[in-house]
Amino acid sequence: MIRGRFAPSPSGRMHLGNLWSALLAWLSARSAGGEMVLRLEDLDPDRCRPAYCDQVMEDLEWLGLDWDNQPVYQSRRTEFYREIFASFEKQGLVYPCYCTRAERLAASAPHLSDGVQIYSGRCRNLPPEEGRLLAQSRKPAWRITVPDQVIQFDDLLYGSYTENLARDCGDFILRRSDGVYAYQLAVVADDWDMGVTQVVRGRDLLSSTPRQIWLWERLGGDPPEFGHVPLLLAPDGRRLAKRDRDQELGWLRQRFTAPELVGRLALWAGLLSEYAPVTPAELVPLFDWGKIRKEDVRNGTES
Ligand code: GLU
Repeated sequence: MIRGRFAPSPSGRMHLGNLWSALLAWLSARSAGGEMVLRLEDLDPDRCRPAYCDQVMEDLEWLGLDWDNQPVYQSRRTEFYREIFASFEKQGLVYPCYCTRAERLAASAPHLSDGVQIYSGRCRNLPPEEGRLLAQSRKPAWRITVPDQVIQFDDLLYGSYTENLARDCGDFILRRSDGVYAYQLAVVADDWDMGVTQVVRGRDLLSSTPRQIWLWERLGGDPPEFGHVPLLLAPDGRRLAKRDRDQELGWLRQRFTAPELVGRLALWAGLLSEYAPVTPAELVPLFDWGKIRKEDVRNGTES
């Protein structure tokens, strides 16, 4: 049975783009008779607030999206991440990185597809004496060494996607210098632990998928299937941000009913040929990956 998931970051009120990914993830799982679990990705104490978690759940319910089991909070799972981190350490894959941001940038090349910096591996083979000296004045971040290995997977929407980990990604951070476990570690550890078999999310995370598949293999599991969906952009083509007041749920809920919003999202996704108010449950029989558009969508909430 398919087990999909919502994995919102409660760093503010959700915006229309968050809803769009959540709706498509839910439809993909439910239309296959699958389960849906909810994980609140509130790992970063600087950005996330407990009140936002409650609001995220209330907004999902308002829209007509439900989930199975109790929600999982990443902020309560530090001990579990510590164990997973230790298992990678035991495999001899982890090393401390003392580079400052400026040093990292100087020692990196931009990622082919998304402009993310590829770390050069500068601290990978640091002479012990140098490491000891640096440790006196800086707290390290912790990176995992990636091999010169090609990872390929078939995305449910975008088809075959391939990356060479060493060339296109580079050693990446598992734990930040302030002690917070990184998204890449937590997301894989949790999807693995929660038995997730299908990940549907925005295509901005497409290029994170090869390294996540590789981490899955290190944990000893079959990676889930992945479906990335196009991004929903602001009417002027910008990426949506939580600070855009007119795209966030507080504002939208004052102007639209849930079926009106879902109808618009379904139209933009390619699931309806013309606009009509609709509930997520009514869309379940209409859902088909073959209908979903691949290009990013500019939203015009007045359409
Ligand atoms: N928490 C991430 C976000 O809200 C999603 C992570 C994922 O789906 O892997 O963008």
